Formats: sequence, structure tokens, C-alpha cells
Amino acid sequence: MSKKHSICSDKETKPELCSSCGLCMCSAWPTKESIQSCVFTTGWLGKHEQNFFGRERSLTDSDEIVFGISKDRFCARMKNPAPGVQFTGIITSLAKKAFATEMVEAVLTLHRGKEDYFFPEPVLARSIEDIAAGCGSKPVLAQTLISIEKAYQAGIKKLLVIGAPCHIHNVRSFQERYSYLKNIDIYVVGIPCTDNVKPENFRYILSRISRSHETVRHYEFMQDFTVHLYHENGDLERVPFFSLPPELTSAGVLTSCCRSCFDYMNSLADITVGYLGAPLDIEKMNQWVLIRTEKGEELCSLIADDMETFPEVTSGDRKDSVQYYGQQLLARMQPGEEDEVRQSMSLEDGHDFAEYLYSTGPRDAEFARYAVDTHLIRNYYYVKQNFPQRLKTLVPRHAYKILEDYELTP
Ligand SMILES: Cc1cc2nc3c(=O)[nH]c(=O)nc-3n(C[C@H](O)[C@H](O)[C@H](O)COP(=O)(O)OP(=O)(O)OC[C@H]3O[C@@H](n4cnc5c(N)ncnc54)[C@H](O)[C@@H]3O)c2cc1C
Ligand code: SF4
Ligand code: SF4
Repeated sequence: MSKKHSICSDKETKPELCSSCGLCMCSAWPTKESIQSCVFTTGWLGKHEQNFFGRERSLTDSDEIVFGISKDRFCARMKNPAPGVQFTGIITSLAKKAFATEMVEAVLTLHRGKEDYFFPEPVLARSIEDIAAGCGSKPVLAQTLISIEKAYQAGIKKLLVIGAPCHIHNVRSFQERYSYLKNIDIYVVGIPCTDNVKPENFRYILSRISRSHETVRHYEFMQDFTVHLYHENGDLERVPFFSLPPELTSAGVLTSCCRSCFDYMNSLADITVGYLGAPLDIEKMNQWVLIRTEKGEELCSLIADDMETFPEVTSGDRKDSVQYYGQQLLARMQPGEEDEVRQSMSLEDGHDFAEYLYSTGPRDAEFARYAVDTHLIRNYYYVKQNFPQRLKTLVPRHAYKILEDYELTP
């Protein structure tokens, strides 16, 4: 039996921050050992990156600083996307093929919860049907790692883990530190991840974004500075970021753990599969792939014939926009400015402004660099202001290089 939320009662060792990754809810080992492996205890990247790749990312390679260590990056899409996938289903296709070819015996993934279409139900999938049912985003904190206990107890030897950067940090660190998972050969497919929310806040947030939150079946923050929401009848609703209610961007409504996150790109995965560095095309739903290791290459080769691939493209220059963002952020943090209520734009003005930024601002891979830099800057100052005692542990060294590049004071 798993000890659901046992962490909440473990006040002595509980970190101040927690993304409910699920590791502490396993009962096959002491909670203390899970917490000792937790990224909010050990910090982001740094020695984890060193242990995994044999080195930390270079501070002189401008792409490695932002995207992490990789062997290859490219854009791709499945030629025949299955229904229900988030973009074209590269992740689900990889997982199904890895299982079908016996590269792995099981897959750690998430089904849709019964309570809410967007809530996750962690599963250890051991059939093609169960793997396929894991497709699509559940855009809330997910207890994915609770199922690793089942893999351990079942004596699984080859396991595919699909997860967000906090899941992947924690599973890598736990496997390194303790012997429980030492006989499991772990393959990792990572999603980029930022600004996730607690399940209990999710419906409030969605109802403040969409004109009809009950009928939304797919939603994503896209490269054209708008949220794309697809409804069950196929209608696309677009809401500019600048027209979102201002309270939705506060850490109170979002989460303090995601504001203290410094690995948007899931740098410890064998392969990261996202969309934000690919050209936006709402018909094709292009994706963006970062291969980081030989295992990542092996996984990708399984579906090579089923994908269309094309080289990464990039245009524009993010520097001025990021610098402006950083300066505005610092100005808002000045004493007396924090409580000032910011107004959001009307939908019409928001669309005009989003259109202007999309047509003149950073595009494709440069948009991804813009997104990584701005989130990292925002999160750095969030931790500095709210958890100053955790700054040294949590923040990886490349964050300081990025602050320096934009002439921002650490
Ligand atoms: C909260 C959140 C924020 C994201 N932000 C970005 C972003 O800013 N930029 C970007 O490029 N991509 C982001 N993604 C990833 C993106 O939404 C797609 O999952 C990814 O592009 C893969 O698409 P696909 O069609 O290959 O996935 P599919 O084949 O549909 O598979 C999706 C996989 O993601 C897993 N998954 C779903 N929800 C979660 C979750 N909450 N935690 C862990 N795993 C989950 C599922 O188990 C499934 O295996 C985010 C995902 C989430 C959940
Ligand atoms: S993030 Fe995971 S490992 Fe860390 S405290 Fe929360 S449940 Fe435990
Ligand atoms: S933003 Fe970071 S801490 Fe939050 S769910 Fe995603 S990976 Fe975990």
C-alpha cells in the first residue's frame, strides 16, 4: 500500500518546496530516502548533470547554456498522429515501440483521472493499450513516481520513465543514491515543463481563461503568445497571454515549486520532446526533439520511419526583449510596487499585441531561448525574494551567467 501524502506529516524532513512527484508516497523505502533524493533538497542540475553526463554544461556554449547538453536537435512530427495525443504523439509512439520491441518491459506514464479529464492517474503500463492510454497532457502536478515502487516490486529490469524535469531529477538521484533501483535499466523521455499548477486550483484557473472551461479538451501556451484551447466540438479558442487575468500569474495561484524550478528543458532526460522550439503550424502541430544520450538516439531510431523530420530553424534576436523583461520585473519588485494591481489588456488589444510580437519578435528556436531565459530570470528572483536560504542550493551555476549576460544583478 502506498502512503498517500505521507510527506505532509513528515514535518522534520519535509522540504519547504514539493512538486508532489510521487516518490515520497512510495512505502517500499523510508520517506527520508526519497526526500534526500528530492531536487528541492539537492538542487537543480549541477552535480546531477556532472554525474549523468560526466560534465556540467559549458558556460561558453551559448546553446548548451540554454538547452542543456545534447547530441542533436531537430523538428519532427509523426506522419500519422493517433487520436488524443498532445501534439503528434512522438512520446506515445516512442513508448509503444520501446515496449513492442522489448527494449523495455514497462512504462511509467499517466492516464486520465476519473474525477477530471485533465487530472493524472499514475500507472505502470505493461501493455500497448495501457501505454497508448497515457497520451495527452494532464496539465497539473503529477505523482508519476508513485508507480516506480510497482516496477521495483515487480522486478522490472528495463523501464521507460516519461516525466517532467522534477520527476527526472528525482528518479535519477534516487537511483544513484540507493540500491532499490540499481537493477533497473532506466530509459527517460522528458517533456519540457514550466508553470504547472496544483490540481485543486486547476478548474478555477481554466475557468478564468476559457469562455467554456467544461468543454476544453486540449490547452497549451503557444509560440504566438496566445493560449490555444480546443473544445470538444473541435473549436479553437485563442486567448492572448496579455489578456489573462493578472492574478493567474501569481505564485499563490500557481505553485511555489514551479517558481523554484531551473530545468525547463528537462536536461537529464535521454530525449526531450516538446514543441516550443519548432515553427508554429496549427495543422501540422510540429514538435521539437532534443537527443541527449545514446539511449535517446536508440529510442528515436525506433520511430525514425514513422516521423517526418526537418532541421531546427531560428529567427530574430531575443536579447532586447529578455533584457526589457528583466528590467520590468526588477522594477515591479521595488518596495511599494509589489502590491500594485496590474491590468490585463482587452482581448482585442491583447490579440493585436500578440500578433505584433509574433511577427517582429524571436521565432522558432530563438523563441525557445527567449522562453527559457525569461522563466529562469523570473524564477531566480522569486527564490531570492521568497526562499533566500535556498538560493545557493537550488540555483544552478549557468543561471548566474544568464543574469550576467543581461546585466541583471544577482
Ligand atoms: C504542465 C506542462 C507544461 C508543459 N510546458 C511545455 C512547454 O512550455 N514547452 C514545450 O515544448 N512543451 C511543454 N510541455 C510538453 C507538451 O505539452 C507535450 O507533452 C510534448 O510536446 C509531447 O507531445 P506528444 O504529442 O509527443 O505527447 P503525447 O504522445 O501525447 O504524450 C504525452 C506524455 O506526457 C505525459 N504527461 C502528461 N502530463 C504530464 C505531467 N503533468 N507530468 C509529467 N508527464 C506528463 C503523459 O504521460 C504522456 O506520456 C508541457 C507539458 C506539461 C504537462
Ligand atoms: S517533490 Fe517528490 S521527492 Fe520531493 S518532497 Fe515532494 S513528493 Fe517528495
Ligand atoms: S515546472 Fe518544474 S517543478 Fe513544476 S512540475 Fe514542471 S518540472 Fe516540476
